Amino acid sequence: MARNAVQFQKGLSEATFDELYGTEAKCRAAVIAWRWPDGFECPACGGTTHSEVKTRRLFQCSACRRQTSPIAGTIFAATKVPLRIWFRAMYHLTQSKQGISSIELGRRLGVTQTTAWTIKHKLAQVMMERGAGKRLKGRVELDDAYLGGERAGGKRGRGAPGKTPFVAAVETTPEGKPVRLKLRRVTGFCNRAISGFAKRSLDPDCEVVSDGLACFAAVADAGCRHEVMKTGSGAAAARKPAFKWVNTALGNIKAAITGTYRAIHEKHVPRYLAEFEYRFNRRYDLAAMLPRLTWAAVRTPPMPCRLLRLAEVSA
Ligand SMILES: [Zn+2]
Repeated sequence: MARNAVQFQKGLSEATFDELYGTEAKCRAAVIAWRWPDGFECPACGGTTHSEVKTRRLFQCSACRRQTSPIAGTIFAATKVPLRIWFRAMYHLTQSKQGISSIELGRRLGVTQTTAWTIKHKLAQVMMERGAGKRLKGRVELDDAYLGGERAGGKRGRGAPGKTPFVAAVETTPEGKPVRLKLRRVTGFCNRAISGFAKRSLDPDCEVVSDGLACFAAVADAGCRHEVMKTGSGAAAARKPAFKWVNTALGNIKAAITGTYRAIHEKHVPRYLAEFEYRFNRRYDLAAMLPRLTWAAVRTPPMPCRLLRLAEVSA
């Protein structure tokens, strides 16, 4: 599809968003509909007949009497933030191509930066869990990249200290057009890390194309074929057609991250990468991104704030 098809699609207008999700009641109805598309099902006994405890906004199972909140067991569990704020956050996260900082998100939502940070990271967790399963197939372009750690006078390029290494892999059509992206933090560019990445993220039938960085040969451990493209370095490398899409995607991601976020703590890097990956992989259907994210959110288990702040994310 032409570049214009991505850039000029309509997306979800603010007016349509307000119409669909502008009130607490509408958001609650949406969560209930996506959580129980075939009607209420008791999480304790599987019973389907129920009554509603209106005052406490709970569903009560007629069989076992257990009371269930529609948000219990989901990423929204126990939140004190109204659902319409969560929906507005999902709107901004899915519709802004460059991503959005928690400061800016807090401003737009009218909540503190801390609250915005928590909302954003919980939603990024949803995106990360959605992206974890599917492996890339067919032709895949692979490249090494680093985030953060820019220090004045410091070492540049591969292996510079303070940088977080990650793998960028793009599944393409045989003609080289991008299909799907995976961005994964790795411990470093060594055989073990690339072998682990390939086993988790690539189908054994993959035909991997990369530059001459030695560790990329370890994709063979996952059964993939590997082709090395000698690229040289600098601008000449970026112009090689085989790497056109990896370089385009990486360029956009780096520009967005440096433009949007001042500094990213290393332990949160996988969630930031997941956000970019999620948007890129759904770029042809902006309008559907919000309902799909909600569908995923009600299927993602709760993530306590304490864990969110402390947890090392394993990708
Ligand atoms: Zn029950």
